Amino acid sequence: MSVLVRSGVGQLCAVGRAAIPSIWRGKYFSSGNEPAENNPVTPMLRHLMYKIKSTGPITVAEYMKEVLTNPAKGYYVHRDMLGDKGDFITSPEISQIFGELLGIWFISEWMATGKSTAFQLVELGPGRGTLVGDILRVFSQLGSVLKNCDVSVHLVEVSQKLSEVQALTLTEEKVPLERNAESPVYMKGVTKSGIPIFWYRDLHDVPKGHSFYLAHEFFDVLPVHKFQKTPQGWREVFIDIDPQVSDKLRFVLAPSATPAEVFIQHDETRDHIEVCPDAGVIIEELSRRIALTGGAALVADYGHDGTKTDTFRGFCGHKLHDVLIAPGTADLTADVDFSFLRRMAQGKVASLGPITQHTFLKNMGIDVRLKVLLDKSNEPSMKQQLLQGYDMLMNPKKMGERFNFFALLPHQRLQGGRDQMNARQSKPFASPVAGFSELAWQ
Ligand code: SAH
Repeated sequence: MSVLVRSGVGQLCAVGRAAIPSIWRGKYFSSGNEPAENNPVTPMLRHLMYKIKSTGPITVAEYMKEVLTNPAKGYYVHRDMLGDKGDFITSPEISQIFGELLGIWFISEWMATGKSTAFQLVELGPGRGTLVGDILRVFSQLGSVLKNCDVSVHLVEVSQKLSEVQALTLTEEKVPLERNAESPVYMKGVTKSGIPIFWYRDLHDVPKGHSFYLAHEFFDVLPVHKFQKTPQGWREVFIDIDPQVSDKLRFVLAPSATPAEVFIQHDETRDHIEVCPDAGVIIEELSRRIALTGGAALVADYGHDGTKTDTFRGFCGHKLHDVLIAPGTADLTADVDFSFLRRMAQGKVASLGPITQHTFLKNMGIDVRLKVLLDKSNEPSMKQQLLQGYDMLMNPKKMGERFNFFALLPHQRLQGGRDQMNARQSKPFASPVAGFSELAWQ
């Protein structure tokens, strides 16, 4: 991997990125402080009030799912919310270096596991396609390394609007929707560098070939159930209509036990927790696939290792937003519980991390890459953008410590298999996994 950093990617030059707002999504917020006059009755609020009036209070998970991905009115479905003019900004939108280093990670893992002849790059929740674009630029630059490999790109995306943006970013064309409504592939095309690219709504529809999976700021938008410990035991938090204020929602506690309680650990010591069954389903599917066909998954998100409590929050126009106000106009998110992801993978594949973004990017050689780009850049404004982007990604007080990296790998990858036999050694050895251990210059 160290060789790749120096020879290949070093030739790539700096690419302009968005202005960096002063707030990003990794912050706390709870509902309840917003004055009632700031509560416009959105179509989503009307829909939810109708639903609650007909069938009773809904779980926080159902609320999140409706608000974010309802096919008609969901927040993610019809808008581009990323970037300086949107509601939040993510690492790939801040700096090209982020995606480039992830591209190197995937190639490094592909090489370490025997250079398979097929390579499916699968991204869950690709946003604007910026991250895949940066990764593919690295793949093009390292064309000679990948020349005998059949590379394809598979995007899992529920948003109509964002899939259009991704198509424009990656193929530079408008890609039409597939005519056959039965087909799991709803769009397909060819990227700028000639790689076949496919869009799906669900991970289960992605072909089960040799794949490398990526999920950046994806798990945090999956619906969570919230539970509060009470003298009567765990009680789930529901969302109901506030009887005191018209057109307002409020949190209430369920009067008795609810099914999602099975996700709470018996020895849980916190008194408020969030559980995300959908994350469990996805990790199990990724683990099954990796155990069967090899490959790897890289998950990057803000989160904790089973220690935090109330992290459910909203973002609108780069500001924290009350989660119950004007639903459908703001992003909703909750910190990812990596201890849960690890438990769901256990027994099927090996997991690494979570480690902080600061450590991961440092280990991947971010300082060297920054220096190469600074040396190549003549424009002071570009130099300043590169330095600001680096600070945002790496500063422990910004994204450096709140964001974490976590990987799923086949057990053989860490134990050392035949593929990893060193010519001078008779015993198999496992080469270190890039990013999760310190970069060793050769
Ligand atoms: N990874 C991107 C975008 C993060 S925003 C980046 O880092 O810039 C979350 C992304 O997940 C969006 O693309 C959103 O449309 C998508 N998304 C949200 N819920 C989803 C679901 N259930 N299935 C697939 N994609 C989803």
